[in-house]
Amino acid sequence: MHYHLLLTQRCNLACTYCGGTREEAKHPEVEYSVEELRTFLAADPEPVLVFYGGEPLLRMELMERIMDEIPATYMLHTNGMLLHRVKPSYLRRFHTILVSIDGRPEVTDAYRGRGVYRRVVSSVRRVRRHFHGDLIARMVASLRTSIVEDVLHLWELGIFDHVHWQLDFELFWDGGSDAARRWLREYNAGISTLVRVWVERMGEGEVMGLVPFLGITGTLLTRRPAGLRCGAGYESFSISPSGDITFCPVTPEYEFMRIGSIRTSSPSELRNTASLRDPCASCELLWVCGGRCLFINLAKEWVGERGYGMICSTVRHLVGELERALPELRELVERGVVEEGVFRYPEVNNDCEVVP
Ligand code: SF4
Ligand code: SF4
Repeated sequence: MHYHLLLTQRCNLACTYCGGTREEAKHPEVEYSVEELRTFLAADPEPVLVFYGGEPLLRMELMERIMDEIPATYMLHTNGMLLHRVKPSYLRRFHTILVSIDGRPEVTDAYRGRGVYRRVVSSVRRVRRHFHGDLIARMVASLRTSIVEDVLHLWELGIFDHVHWQLDFELFWDGGSDAARRWLREYNAGISTLVRVWVERMGEGEVMGLVPFLGITGTLLTRRPAGLRCGAGYESFSISPSGDITFCPVTPEYEFMRIGSIRTSSPSELRNTASLRDPCASCELLWVCGGRCLFINLAKEWVGERGYGMICSTVRHLVGELERALPELRELVERGVVEEGVFRYPEVNNDCEVVP
């Protein structure tokens, strides 16, 4: 199964959409021993451990000890500021590294702090020499984002294998502001443009590694139901610094998210402990959407009906645009311009939720 390990609740940045270190966190630092973690994971034949935070690289030594002592597939979810300090021998062991970066320099720095873009890009360039797994740029799309320009910028840097983005859900709280509603219309128009660019470039033989487009097209081509793409509550869980287990790494302090503890639970008891409710559970698009986000689904009174509808409208728009592009994509596969296999992404849960 897939586990997020929150190595700390502290962060060395304070991004506008997150706020950084969770000052209210009751358990900011890890309170269980590596031995306790190893004992818990011993009952899982194929654990995938994703270092997560806060910023996990603030606890580099603990990360190294865990990697030394526990056999697992490893992934890292980082803000990139300290990535260049990870020793090559550890870097090489990661299957996937997800680096938070929001697009063009001015957009990244506006959300994440002055100088962050330059430091992160320089860090990524340095690790590229040693890391040959999947390096993913992970964007948050918020009011300053031009989805076309920011995604293309990151892709054209040529240092990332894939680009993935997430909407800043806070924009939609209670139906959002006028500015948020305006931005949403521009975002959807941008998605239409980006799908066109993606298909055109594919016609020229360039497969742009845009995670939402690849993953959703893969499902549309096979018609095989996707399931909740992040796996939360089904096969993906989160171990908070106290040792408590929650179904997802977001806000582990909420009691409704707690489903066990590494000291008292076993991995097999965790499977399928949380499931989607309406409107996703009975939605006609569930097979391709997967239900977007279990956390928002269970706490939807926070975004409200209108907010939920806004998030959902982006999914419907994106799926509609890719559905429209499908005949052209099929033809490219049949003519051998692209291999069908490129749409089988991600092949394993790699911490990309696929649907933004
Ligand atoms: S399209 Fe909307 S309602 Fe349907 S499963 Fe996705 S998020 Fe839920
Ligand atoms: S998509 Fe939602 S439920 Fe899934 S891991 Fe992210 S925040 Fe949690």
